[in-house]
Amino acid sequence: MSDIRITKVTAIETAPQGSNLIVVRIDTNQPGLYGYGCATFTQRHKAVVTAIEEYMDQLLRGRDALAVNDAWSVMMNSSYWRNGPVLNNAISGCDMALWDIAGKVANMPVWQLWGGKVRQAVPVYRHAGGDDFGRVDETVVAFLEQGYQYLRIQYGGYGGRQSFLNTPAGSPDGAYFDAKKYLRSVPALFEHVRAKFGDEIELCHDVHERLDPVDAVWLAKHLEQYRPFFLEDALAPEQGAWFKTIREACATPLAMGELFNNPMEWQPLVENRWIDFIRCHVSQIGGVTPARKLAAHCEPFGVKTAWHGPGDVSPIGHMANVHLDLTTLNFGIQEWCGMETDPRVREVFDGCAEIRDGFAWANDKPGWGIEVDLEKAKKYPCDSAQPRWLLARLPDGTSVKA
Ligand code: MG
Repeated sequence: MSDIRITKVTAIETAPQGSNLIVVRIDTNQPGLYGYGCATFTQRHKAVVTAIEEYMDQLLRGRDALAVNDAWSVMMNSSYWRNGPVLNNAISGCDMALWDIAGKVANMPVWQLWGGKVRQAVPVYRHAGGDDFGRVDETVVAFLEQGYQYLRIQYGGYGGRQSFLNTPAGSPDGAYFDAKKYLRSVPALFEHVRAKFGDEIELCHDVHERLDPVDAVWLAKHLEQYRPFFLEDALAPEQGAWFKTIREACATPLAMGELFNNPMEWQPLVENRWIDFIRCHVSQIGGVTPARKLAAHCEPFGVKTAWHGPGDVSPIGHMANVHLDLTTLNFGIQEWCGMETDPRVREVFDGCAEIRDGFAWANDKPGWGIEVDLEKAKKYPCDSAQPRWLLARLPDGTSVKA
């Protein structure tokens, strides 16, 4: 047992790029010793802030700051009802903050504390897309010129390009899309990009769980000829059993897990070898402590990691992803949104992971190696308004998954 005690757990709310980010700060009884973790659930951020300040603070105050495993178990189990997105994110913020403190006490980066690097830097993929093929080409060229070797290609937003839709008069406002039009557009996009840019580039695509199961089978079969690096979230979590059908129909690599909260969701997919990449949102599953266990669980089944890395993960969370990637033998690829190049982000977060030649690099500072400017964070307040793109509807007006 160490003498280092937790004295306070606070939530920092900031939105330097417009997306709500939640960062946990844990202070200790040692002057200048504190840690940061990512608790970002951007669409319901106030619920997470309440969970941190009303529950995690009282649970953790006075505890040994270096007893990370015990703290994680207490946070997860003391609510009795567990594994929901709000509490998992609150737990993640505290879990990562305690690992940050452990690294600072050891005077080591967290990757060193976890046994050292198995690769010097982490290959990442970027999002290339546009509302017409010409715009897709422009973004592909720009990323290739910057040295990226892996790209996710999308035509229009999730669900494809929104062309004319025949919708009943009086239908509610929302983000309408036609799943069948989208379904036809994706093989055309892959055919275009392969014809234009050749076979060397690695290509991903994100379905964002928007297809009916049998349509997802059709899409995976038709993309196989273009050799995708992976097809992402082809199904909603509740349709996981359909991955068996896709697996038996074709050899398109499958990535899944962005919406997962709970080990019961990934166990059958991993243990039956129905997927190739597990790509959970690390704060959504409760932090780096369960993420390391998940990666270890996947390794003997031949499943690789591809942790979620969008704009609604804080730079602390992106750095935690990189430290996981650096130390995981069965790492596959890392999604990268590029927020570290935004001056507003750098104003609040100092020490972000850097990209060079298509690889993400961590720094060698203790812990996560990131400092947060608490005053600058206040310059960019969060907003509880509902994002419109999540109000997805089919052409007949039915509200569906986004
Ligand atoms: Mg995705």
